[in-house]
Amino acid sequence: MTENLNPFAIAQAQLDQAAGILQLDPHMHAFLREPMREFHFSIPVRMDDGNVQTFKAFRVQYNDARGPAKGGIRFHPDETIDTVRALAAWMTWKTAVCDVPLGGGKGGVVCNPRNMSPGELERLSRGYMRAVSRFVGLKRDVPAPDVGTNPQIMSWMLDEYEVINGEHDPGVITGKPLMLGGSAGRTPATAMGGMVTIREAAKLLGMDLKGATCAIQGYGNVGSFAHRLAHDLLGLKVVAVSDEFGAIYSKNGLDPTVVSGQMRRTGKVGGTPDSEEISNSQLLEMPVDILIPAAIENQLTGANADRIQARIIAELANGPTTPEADQIFLQKGIYIIPDFLCNAGGVSVSYFEMVQNSYGYYWTEQEVQERLDQKMTTAFHAVHKMAEERGVTTRMAAYLVAVNRVAETVRARGWV
Ligand code: NAD
Repeated sequence: MTENLNPFAIAQAQLDQAAGILQLDPHMHAFLREPMREFHFSIPVRMDDGNVQTFKAFRVQYNDARGPAKGGIRFHPDETIDTVRALAAWMTWKTAVCDVPLGGGKGGVVCNPRNMSPGELERLSRGYMRAVSRFVGLKRDVPAPDVGTNPQIMSWMLDEYEVINGEHDPGVITGKPLMLGGSAGRTPATAMGGMVTIREAAKLLGMDLKGATCAIQGYGNVGSFAHRLAHDLLGLKVVAVSDEFGAIYSKNGLDPTVVSGQMRRTGKVGGTPDSEEISNSQLLEMPVDILIPAAIENQLTGANADRIQARIIAELANGPTTPEADQIFLQKGIYIIPDFLCNAGGVSVSYFEMVQNSYGYYWTEQEVQERLDQKMTTAFHAVHKMAEERGVTTRMAAYLVAVNRVAETVRARGWV
């Protein structure tokens, strides 16, 4: 039988398993299995050639029992409502596991930002905000950047929102540039949070990180900072990195400054001096201490899991591992730092950004990093403790911590 790779089916299957272990009330389980609200939009955009193209777009507010929905907006040609639902569900569990007072949401536009001019991207971003503006806000739902979007896109969206409402309201969107009320330390935050979880996992496993080997899939916002921080902070030897065009390898380790320079010049990691080209599957399957998927979903599946040789898999991407691969990793004894724990640094600093916007008072990068470290360390150990107590995988333990917290709040509100 072929594996079901629909991300929402995977997210629901993971919840079903957690609900079984928690012996969750069936009505609560049914409620948590579906998004509370979702919006579908058609956004007409005047293209540079004078024609109007209509883009399909979504916003899902999966659950806002613990606070306003929170989650990024993706611009991706393969975006589907089920991907957005799954990511919104994972945001719900992520904000709960790192214990920030927010719910879970996600947005997406079916488009290929690489083939659009800056003017077309601006008109699409403003069009998205016009469509969604009445449903978002600091007390309702707070978007952020994700795959295919960036601080410039957040700036256009923020500006459109403030123009519509006639007042400054920087907390409506996070991941903004500093001059528009962004937080120090937001851009590297997802990777930084992941490094904290790797540090803590290595302590538990008695692994010396200095000189330990690492491979990173994906070289966008998350993957490129993961390379920089793994090298500079943890002393890891990053022997392979990749992007959608291919992967590179150096047995002596890849210097983040050199790879970033290549990326800036050519838009690809391929061709970096003193590296050899390998395939993305070679990268995933090489014998390294730490494998960091930081690209897209469904990269570690039943088809390749038995060839994965890493000791720790730190899932900075969302949904990189399928349930079938999880089973195989369990048998192989690979330590998984599950996605919505490993990559919770981004949403933690987004929450700090909202707090700073509300106060109109801004913290230093060092203050942000100290608070981030504390949040991620606490979250990591809450999950580890749950895994030990219940004898479950780290992924299931993260679900148990998160689903418990959301269910308790839903119950306290009297919804179920
Ligand atoms: P991005 O668009 O900046 O970068 C994605 C990278 O993945 C690019 O280098 C791209 O070339 C590469 N890629 C795409 N398909 C690939 C493939 N098949 N093989 C290898 N590389 C491939 O996105 P990002 O913001 O870095 O996000 C990466 C992952 O991290 C996503 O799963 C995202 O949901 C997750 N994430 C991001 C944040 C954040 O703060 N940006 C927070 C939490 C989770």
